[in-house]
Amino acid sequence: MTGSPVDRLADALAKLPGIGRKTALRLAFSLVDDGRLSEELAAVLSETARNVHECPLCRNLTLDPVCEVCGNGSRSRSICVVHTSADMRSIEDTGLFRGTYFVLHGSLAPLDGVGPAELGIPALLERVAGVQAQEVILALDSTTEGEATCAYIARALESLGVPVTRLARGLPPGALVEYADALTLSQALKGRSRV
Ligand code: ZN
Repeated sequence: MTGSPVDRLADALAKLPGIGRKTALRLAFSLVDDGRLSEELAAVLSETARNVHECPLCRNLTLDPVCEVCGNGSRSRSICVVHTSADMRSIEDTGLFRGTYFVLHGSLAPLDGVGPAELGIPALLERVAGVQAQEVILALDSTTEGEATCAYIARALESLGVPVTRLARGLPPGALVEYADALTLSQALKGRSRV
């Protein structure tokens, strides 16, 4: 392998979302300077990479047999559909939703080969029917792909007769759930409307 350890570290870090070249270099220098932190991070990362998997119920990423939310017997029978585990965390952090989740890991993108099966939509329908969900909340991004995914899932759920809602239009067009601030997300969740 070529390049100095700092450059190689910076190259790897720069692949993370939101990390530009300058930040990557700064982080790489701190890691090289702090051997103990590097070892701690290396251990956590390799443990995570080895053991992380999708929760069989909701597809959230977890190290446990089922994720913490699905394993909590006191959650309600509402299901909140999100794009990513990070979105799930953002909604959990509002403290307003007491049901369980379903993580799509993406948006419909037929041209890139991402169809309903890749998003786990058949498993979602099975789960909604299986738990007799009280409500399905579509907490998807206000992007073109998010809107298309939202419309597809709403249609797919129609025959099950479950109330389907979506976040209020409080999220500005193009907004990503993960980055919405807690107040905006709370208002969007409270003001959700029937699809
Ligand atoms: Zn789960």
